Amino acid sequence: MPKIQAVRPGSLAEELELEPGDEIKSINGQPIKDIIDYQFAITDEAIELEVIKSNGEEWLIDVEKGYDETLGVDWEHPTVDRIKLCHNKCVFCFVDQIPGNMRQTLNMRDDDYRLSFLHGNFVTLTNLKQADLERIARLKMSPLNISVHTTNPELRNFMVGHKKAGEILNQIAYLAEHEIEMNTQIVLCPGMNDGEELDRTIRELAPYWPQVRTLSVVPVGLTKHRRGLAEIRSVTPEEADRVISQVEAWQEKFLQEKGAAFVHAADEFYVMAGREVPPAERYDEFAQTENGVGLIRNFLDELEEIKEQIPSSLKERRHVAVVTGMSPADTIRRGIRLLENVGNLRVDLHVIRNDFYGHMVTVTGLITGFDIVAQLKDTCTADLVMIPDIMLKDDADIFLDDYTVDRLSAELGKPVLVLPANATGLIKGALGMTDKLPPRRRYEATLAHSGMLGCAGGF
Ligand code: SF4
Repeated sequence: MPKIQAVRPGSLAEELELEPGDEIKSINGQPIKDIIDYQFAITDEAIELEVIKSNGEEWLIDVEKGYDETLGVDWEHPTVDRIKLCHNKCVFCFVDQIPGNMRQTLNMRDDDYRLSFLHGNFVTLTNLKQADLERIARLKMSPLNISVHTTNPELRNFMVGHKKAGEILNQIAYLAEHEIEMNTQIVLCPGMNDGEELDRTIRELAPYWPQVRTLSVVPVGLTKHRRGLAEIRSVTPEEADRVISQVEAWQEKFLQEKGAAFVHAADEFYVMAGREVPPAERYDEFAQTENGVGLIRNFLDELEEIKEQIPSSLKERRHVAVVTGMSPADTIRRGIRLLENVGNLRVDLHVIRNDFYGHMVTVTGLITGFDIVAQLKDTCTADLVMIPDIMLKDDADIFLDDYTVDRLSAELGKPVLVLPANATGLIKGALGMTDKLPPRRRYEATLAHSGMLGCAGGF
């Protein structure tokens, strides 16, 4: 039975005197087996709640509530029952590429379609039974994010490390037939699923558009902590250039045939190849920014919009440091150049080398507090350090190495400002116009399955 872990202040649950440790036996007579049952049951406006109190008492409560009003509780597990774990052994898995003493959520090998529906996690579908597919179809659990990597059955069995992985096209066909929208991804491993294999995957997924709404191609990311994984190597700049040309050729065809680009190369390919990212119209409403697709284009377009708001001078002297990864550094420099002539303002860019995961890791989202301190402590002369939110866990101010923002600030001896990882965050943060900035983005949920290990475009 779903057990309540916390009751949020001012919530319906608090009004009903529900407490941590209480269990929900049923809603309107329906047993609640997982978060999906709960989400559907709680939408009724008149509900009968059967509760087992932590002291063993049984309560039956009738509640009148709004359609979109929930109990306002946190559950012991995010899926209410246990999270479905993966039984795969992907050749690029992030969990096999981190030091052994990282926090539990980074070691979590989840592969749970419910978390894909609710939070956008990428799933492989290898642990789905027919009953799960039917449930997804019946409850219209859409959209889902699916890691495909290749539609070649033997190759997918190998890359995902599961003997049923090759059934992916049948599963996608079933979901498409039942009108489930899917965003899909390929983690590109050179010499494995690139070249003709990449063409095959694009060609075999395209007929399922518009149900398969987008297909992203992201480069595999490797750290210095790899253990027990297949021999793979990073994408070279020449290969990145070829992937972009291949993807853009398919885009041309799909734009003519479907009016949508459908397949997208991740920003990281454009950075590696030194090529300008495509215009916004090519990004199909930016469906995969969390996967590092379109962040640079968003950033550059946002800069164009915000530059009119940049004043010629500040009233008081301001000296700030901007911290970023190596991959987006050139994009961030384009933003900082717009601030060069603002009187009384000095902005220093600090590009952090990733000593923690290894120098092949260049994205901002994988920078640790330890590396920032080590590289800024003796060089940073600014009065304030600005960091983008994608360096931190989504619901807490901690870095991947468990450094807190407070600890970073104490060790640097300066205040640290956390800002949205976009052009508005950079410009408004630098100018001290930080009120009314958008909320922080989610990040850690998709980390384990993402070959590129983070996002290129965050400053
Ligand atoms: S990448 Fe994801 S699906 Fe693959 S082994 Fe790792 S956790 Fe499992």
